[in-house]
Amino acid sequence: MDDCTFCRITEGSLTAHIVHEDAVVMAFLDTTPINPGHTLVVPRVHEPDFHHLPPASYRALMDVVRTIATVIDEVHRPTKVGLVVAGWDQPHAHVHVVPMHDYHDITSRALLDGHRNRTTPRELERVATHLRGSLATRDASGDA
Ligand SMILES: [Zn+2]
Repeated sequence: MDDCTFCRITEGSLTAHIVHEDAVVMAFLDTTPINPGHTLVVPRVHEPDFHHLPPASYRALMDVVRTIATVIDEVHRPTKVGLVVAGWDQPHAHVHVVPMHDYHDITSRALLDGHRNRTTPRELERVATHLRGSLATRDASGDA
C-alpha cells in the first residue's frame, strides 16, 4: 500500500535502520525508541491485524521476534525485554520489541500516545550495526 509507512519500508522506497530481513519478515529500529535497541518486527505483507496473518507468516514473525529479543538482551542487557502489539500508531501489523529498564517502559502513556523522543539517524545506525553484528555471530554459530 502506497500510504503505509511500513509497506514503503518493506518495499524499499523508504529507508530504515534494518536489523533483519527475510522473505516474510523485516525488523528495523523504531525511530522514536523507548530505549536504545527498540525494534519493530513486521510482516512484509500488508495486514492491519496480526491475528489475521496466515499461520505460517505469524509463526515466522514470532520466530524473528524471539531472535531479536534474545539479541537485544545480549547487546543491551536490559532488565527485561518486553513486547507490545497494539497497532494504534501504524495500520500494519507489527510487534514492538523493547529493552526494558523499568516496568513502565511499556506501560507509559508516552508509548501509547507516541510522544517519544526522536533519536538521530547516526545513533540508530550505530545500534542497528551492533544488533546485526550479534545476529551474524548467532547465525555463524548455528544458535538461531
Ligand atoms: Zn502496510
